Amino acid sequence: MPSGSVDAGVLETWWADFGVDLDRALAEDLDGILLILHGALAFASAPDREGELLRRLRQRLAGRPLPIAADLDLHANFSPLMARSANILTGYRENPHTDARLAGVRAAR
Ligand SMILES: [Zn+2]
Repeated sequence: MPSGSVDAGVLETWWADFGVDLDRALAEDLDGILLILHGALAFASAPDREGELLRRLRQRLAGRPLPIAADLDLHANFSPLMARSANILTGYRENPHTDARLAGVRAAR
């Protein structure tokens, strides 16, 4: 059940951990990056933190021709920042989300 907005520190903690994994991954030969997002995560300090996450990732990959793909819940709050920051955005089409894996596969393809 939805339970309100998330503290902004959650994103910063996640981003710090993700950065370590990203550095390791970028040392390998990647075809792209696929994120399984939700798209309706809300922070008290800013409503579009998943757009911010994608923006930071795009910025971090500057100079690398790696596509960024993400799949979103069908009730995501899709934003212009998400669109500008990702190459591919797909969404679940079923509720309940029995097609979550298919949405990820579609984004990866
Ligand atoms: Zn949902």
